[in-house]
Amino acid sequence: MGSTFDQLADAVLAGTPATADDALAALRADDAELMSLVAAAGRLRRAHFGNTVKVNYLVNLKSGLCPENCNYCSQALGSSAPILKYSWLSKDETLQQAGAGLQGGASRVCMVSSGRGPSNRDIDKVTEMVGALKSEHPDVEVCACLGLLSDGQAEQLKDAGVDAYNHNINTAESNHDNIVQTHTYADRVDTVTKAKTAGLSPCSGLIAGLGETDEQLVEALFALKELESDSIPVNFLMPFDGTPFENTWELSPLRCLKILAMARIVCPDREIRIAGGREMHLRSLQPTALQVANSIFLGDYLTSEGQEAEADLAMIRDSGFVVLGSDEELAQRPADPAIRRRGAGTDVLPNA
Ligand code: SF4
Repeated sequence: MGSTFDQLADAVLAGTPATADDALAALRADDAELMSLVAAAGRLRRAHFGNTVKVNYLVNLKSGLCPENCNYCSQALGSSAPILKYSWLSKDETLQQAGAGLQGGASRVCMVSSGRGPSNRDIDKVTEMVGALKSEHPDVEVCACLGLLSDGQAEQLKDAGVDAYNHNINTAESNHDNIVQTHTYADRVDTVTKAKTAGLSPCSGLIAGLGETDEQLVEALFALKELESDSIPVNFLMPFDGTPFENTWELSPLRCLKILAMARIVCPDREIRIAGGREMHLRSLQPTALQVANSIFLGDYLTSEGQEAEADLAMIRDSGFVVLGSDEELAQRPADPAIRRRGAGTDVLPNA
């Protein structure tokens, strides 16, 4: 007889969604059950994403100098973390940075700027950059992450060729006001909804390790499911010195793995991305986490350094996965269906 988690995977694959109790059981799995949990979540991962890993590349268009006070953020008002601070990259700098990520194997470029939200001039800047990037690299997927959106801005981004919009809910509604006071949970949900309504693929995720309870992590995941977030970045708090969360160390590699497995069980068909804090918190369990998650950022994060891109790609290869959109992945795909051009309706003899 299979494990309880195996039976849960059977039920999810047969169309019965996981409940909050199932999610809590995954989060609270005994360490001795960890591999059964990973195996069960891995079955869901492979059912929806096969052996592919989506690779995303971050370009921080504007760093630091933010008037918002998100307590976890090194770019926030009041943070004294000694990060790089600069105003907008030029179009050429952006193209150069994005090109490096694409060269490294990324299929999606995430264009991010700090701040409460974009002005209309900022939107113009970004749409020009996106147009230039897409004409150089027609297959690239672009995700914009520019903060809270005003009416009409999501539509402008969509018209400019932006594919997705990222705005994380970060934590459960019931924990939100403990981590930021300059905007509300409802503000964040409103922006995700605006992006979705404009036809952008919603990307919204969370940060674990912010003092939330197990129940609040589950609450956040069900909220993301409800919001129909297509991609769910799971960040693990990097407690920068100079921020209110400095010296907050609540996570262990096993805990991170259980969080990712829980996310997969609740949202089996969504892109689950291991985001910031991957190297710091998962450490030597990163390859195991790929059995559950299907997406990572390549190389550096917004204000901190990630491991070498080559090490990320080696980890993917060594684990038997292939980078989505790479030659290797395309070679494994079956051929497209051949359109019939013979037999009935044509002057050519049938294939019989
Ligand atoms: S998360 Fe975004 S809005 Fe919040 S402080 Fe950081 S840059 Fe500003």
